[in-house]
Amino acid sequence: MKHSPNSPILLNSSLHVDEARKAITNLVSELQQESSLLNDPADIETVSLDHAINRVLAQDLLSPIDVPAADNSAMDGYAFDGKCLSQAGSEVTLNIVGTALAGKPFEGKIGQGECLKIMTGALMPADCDTVIPQEFTTSASAESICFPSNQLKAGENRRLRGEDLQKDKAAISAGRLLRPSDLGLAASLGTSHLQVRRKLRVAILSSGDELRSLGQPLDPGSIYDSNRYSLNGMLSRLNIDIIDCGIVRDNPDSLKDAFIAAASKADVLISSGGVSVGEADFTKQIMQELGDVGFWKIAMRPGRPMAFGTLKPVPGKSPARKTLFFGLPGNPVAVMVTFYQFVRSALLQLGGVTQADLPLVQAISENAIRKKPGRTEFQRAILGRNVDGKPSVRITGSQGAGILRSMSEANCFVILRHDQGNVAPGELVDIALFEGLL
Ligand code: AMP
Ligand code: MG
Repeated sequence: MKHSPNSPILLNSSLHVDEARKAITNLVSELQQESSLLNDPADIETVSLDHAINRVLAQDLLSPIDVPAADNSAMDGYAFDGKCLSQAGSEVTLNIVGTALAGKPFEGKIGQGECLKIMTGALMPADCDTVIPQEFTTSASAESICFPSNQLKAGENRRLRGEDLQKDKAAISAGRLLRPSDLGLAASLGTSHLQVRRKLRVAILSSGDELRSLGQPLDPGSIYDSNRYSLNGMLSRLNIDIIDCGIVRDNPDSLKDAFIAAASKADVLISSGGVSVGEADFTKQIMQELGDVGFWKIAMRPGRPMAFGTLKPVPGKSPARKTLFFGLPGNPVAVMVTFYQFVRSALLQLGGVTQADLPLVQAISENAIRKKPGRTEFQRAILGRNVDGKPSVRITGSQGAGILRSMSEANCFVILRHDQGNVAPGELVDIALFEGLL
């Protein structure tokens, strides 16, 4: 018998999304400890900076130098000994004795009553500790400058040696998913290559007799397989090596063969379809032979049924490691929501990323949203600004789990929490942006 998604009996027996996430995190940690996945010396690669974007740093990058390497000026202006500020009257007058440019230090001495014309980044002479920015001088000629003595304090506008980074301290910690700024930082230290974890290998397959590959004719009742393409896109964003295992028919032998073939090559297998009420028993039977997989009813919408667990090491696989398995629901939106909610963080964790959380923000709901307490909902929406210029969010039409257009037009999820009820227009709701996510 198929229960309605709103059935209270079913909701009571469902798993809270937080519990499901916790169970996944725990199993991934166990798996990592058991097989030191991606942390073996064999799983670490050396790549040049221009190939390091979106890779995961395997070891702390220690700074070989102090940054900056020496005290230097933070402004274009005039460097002098700040002691004169407390001794001077209301106005300070200093004679200019030379110029220092970035890369062209001044070699001479700066005495009392003297200053050095200095550009941003130029080395501070040993006799100076303060820079008056050009724009704060009340008069400046080629020979001298004047400025009010209360304009600044001794030591201002000087960058100190080691202020950014100290020699032998971690400039970037292991587990960082490398971003453009990290590559720039590594380059600023003279580092040309980084030690990164190898990419995760993730196999994907679609299951269902009704599915057709692109290019095939659509006979009555059949549909094109879209899930492998959205999964491929989401995995590509995470810089993962994808093993496409195609479409598998709803037949025990084909499914078993496909799972074994995938598990022999991949760290993770993601399938879609075949876990909903009518089909789960069939998949369960196969999984009992191949591994240890739980079939969950999760209190969420969309994406209620999901299978999760491990497949046994396939004979001959070296090293003999288990394969993490996600059996996602078949509905195209449910695939993307469960990927976002469960798979993404598990893959990042397995890949060695230490900080994988996405920022959550809030926006004003433009719509009235119907919501029953007792499940987490992920509605597709467009984040923009309302007439007052405040962040506001509008739901993208019909929210059926199979309506992929609702995702395609959206730029964020509105996340309606487990205990939350109906939302009135004007209320604040939680938002997870697709940017950086899907
Ligand atoms: P299932 O979870 O196998 O019961 O599938 C649920 C719904 O999703 C059905 O309407 C399927 O036809 C559809 N579906 C399953 N797999 C895919 C796929 N790979 N691409 C598009 N739709 C799918
Ligand atoms: Mg199916």
